[in-house]
Order: sequence, then C-alpha cells, then structure tokens
Amino acid sequence: MPEFKTSPGTRDILAPHSARWRAFQEVFARTVEAAGYSYIIPPMFEDLDVFLRLGEATEVVTKEMYDFHDKGGRHVALRPEQTASVCRAFVEHRPTTPWKVWYSGPNFRYEKPQQGRYRQFDQVGVEALGADDPLLDAEVIALAAKFYADLGLRKVHLSINTLGDEGDREKYSQQLSSYLTANEKSLTAESRATLERNPLRVLDSKREPDQKVIAGAPAIRDSISATANEHFEAVLQSLDALNIKYEINNRLVRGLDYYRHTAFEFVTDRLGAQGTVLGGGRYDGLIENLGGPATPAVGWAAGIERLAMLIEQLPVQQLEAMIVLENDAGLGQAFALLRQLRQAGISADMIATGSPKKRYDKAVKQNPAAILRVNENGYYGFSGEDTNSPLMNFLKSLAP
Ligand code: ATP
Ligand code: MG
Repeated sequence: MPEFKTSPGTRDILAPHSARWRAFQEVFARTVEAAGYSYIIPPMFEDLDVFLRLGEATEVVTKEMYDFHDKGGRHVALRPEQTASVCRAFVEHRPTTPWKVWYSGPNFRYEKPQQGRYRQFDQVGVEALGADDPLLDAEVIALAAKFYADLGLRKVHLSINTLGDEGDREKYSQQLSSYLTANEKSLTAESRATLERNPLRVLDSKREPDQKVIAGAPAIRDSISATANEHFEAVLQSLDALNIKYEINNRLVRGLDYYRHTAFEFVTDRLGAQGTVLGGGRYDGLIENLGGPATPAVGWAAGIERLAMLIEQLPVQQLEAMIVLENDAGLGQAFALLRQLRQAGISADMIATGSPKKRYDKAVKQNPAAILRVNENGYYGFSGEDTNSPLMNFLKSLAP
C-alpha cells in the first residue's frame, strides 16, 4: 500500500492545537457579535470571474488561484479570500446598509508552502459595507485590537497608511513607476516583472535589495487630495480617541488592488518574514466592479495559522472537574453530580470503570482542575486548588 500523506501546504490540525483553534474562533465571534456584526457563510468556490475582479495585477489572481473547469464546463475557483464573496453576496441580496458581517473559514492559494504559509489556510474577518464614515475604519481596527487583547496578545502592532482615492492612487502609481524605473538595476528580477504590471506592488516586496530601493521611494501621502487627507486624519483622530496605538507606514500598500484610502496591517516581529497576522483596509471600488451600486466598504482578515503560532502560550481549556467513583455502589450519585455540574456550565467527566484503586491515579493523569470523590454515601470531598472559581463555589454549596 502507498503511504498517504497530506498534500503539500495542507495539514491535519490535531489536539491540543485544534482546541486553540476553536478557542480562537470563539473569542473572535464573541468580540464581533457584541459589536453587531452578523455571521455570513459564503461558498468555498465561486465562478472564477468573481475573483478576477480582485484585479488583474494581484498575485492571488495571477499566480495563486486554484481554478478548474467542473464537469459542467463552468470555470470555477476555490476562494483565495472571502471579501470578494461578501461583495458578490451584497450585490446578489442587496441587504440594507450599513451591512456588517463576519466570517471564518478556509481559503486556498497555490503558494510555496513554508512556515506560516499554507495552501489551505484559515481566516477570520469582518466587512462593513455601505458607509464611508472614517469612524467605521476606526471601528473595524478597534475590533481587531480588541480581538488581540482578548487573546492576550500584546506584541502585535498596528501599521497604517492611506492610498488616497482612485485618482490619487493612479497619479502616485505613475510617480512611483518613474522612480522605480530609474532604479530598476537595483531591483530583483521579481520586482522588475511586478513593476511592469503594477508598480504599487513593488512596495510590498520584502526582499532585501528591493527594500533598499523602496526606502527612497516617494510617499503617497505627499500627493493625495485634500479630501483623502481629511479622511485619513479623521481615522487617526478616532484611533487616538480610542487609545489605539499605530505607526504610519508610508510604504504600506497591501497585496490586493482594490484598496482605497485606509490600508492597515497588524504585524508581529516574532514570526520572521511571515509577520503580518492581519490585513485590511477600505475597498470602495470593489462592489461596483462586481456589478453593484457604488458602495463604500471597509474590512480586514486575519490569518489563523499565524495567530495560532503566536498563541501557543494561550492556555488550553482544562477539564474543570473529574469525578472518581471510589465505590461502585455510588454510581447513581456520581451520575447525578455529573449532570448537576454540566448543567451549571462546569466541564466535567467521570472515571467509574476499571479497578477502583486505580481510578484516582487515572484521574490525576488527565490533569483536571479538581478531582471529586464519590462513594456509596455520595460526594465526600475534592482535591485541587481551593479558589473562588465557579467550580469551587459550586462544590462548597454541596459540601457534606
Ligand atoms: P502575505 O503578504 O503574507 O502573502 P497577503 O497580503 O497575501 O499576505 P491577505 O490576503 O491580506 O494577505 O490575507 C490576510 C492575512 O491572511 C495575512 O495577513 C495572513 O495572516 C493570512 N494569510 C494570507 N495568505 C496566507 C497563507 N498562504 N497561509 C497562511 N496565512 C495566510
Ligand atoms: Mg500573499
């Protein structure tokens, strides 16, 4: 028999990592639902054309797409991200605005697999469609900041820039193109190729020789319109008011072509080259590109794999109570206690089989917060730390 393994760039996520994965999604859902964002589950594949709207010069489109013809001859693609699907859904269903949604699930990109970069990877994200208010840019950024704070991650930093409006972006693109062409000899071959297709994307390069050229490039902020500048100033003021720290990065353009005005990333220096854990911005042109009415929108997506690497230190949920049945005559009482605990929202399990002498040791091996002893007279005591936890308070209420 051949030895089967996961395909390159994909992985099985097993315990204890899988538990963190879920904790992560739960924290996210709690954070964004409290802010009024509703859950959307878009399909995992769409007609290829939906994703082509992300921009012809976008790597996701040109190099990384998992597209194929299905048995009916339809040209479809596994989604490389979910913003395009959210916008397609908006155009299809025309919900009332502002439409605020969140999503969570896998995306597919044909990339070179490496640490923190996979072909199937998960993202959580939010999108707010139908309002151009700079307060909304700040709101989604604040959600991201709260999300990291709730996860106990402090070493992620917000980096922010403005791309101006569509005209500004075009003008700047030309300016940058002349600068980069003048310095073409110092760029890597990859960046020279990118320069022809989309000069802005060269700023995205993390390669050393390119970085040197990029450091001297003109800044977009020097050439944006007064209204675009006003929008950006308002976003920054709101962030100040929310006490959210940021660093303005003149070179930040993001990988996708559809961004306008605000673009931002949350970055950590603890994951090497794959340090961007979240990316987002305003994409006022995308919905129109998909055949909808002109609709301003802002949002972000965070990669779970990279966050998972950062939250290795996040405590895995521990079983709170393990019941040890020390005398089989107490089985009825043990079951009753198990039910009571679970009803009270306390995670609980029971060891009631095998040699009664070995049950306690078995329980210890599972490392629960407390071990509850039950015999024919019912519950008679626990071992574990005596704290003010809901479990301990519950047990004290039972105390024999
Ligand atoms: P990068 O520059 O790292 O390729 P990107 O600009 O392609 O990122 P986005 O499309 O904005 O990334 O996606 C947002 C986030 O999703 C990224 O910051 C990252 O955390 C995560 N992400 C993107 N591609 C991958 C991948 N192939 N594997 C794991 N996570 C990814
Ligand atoms: Mg990428």
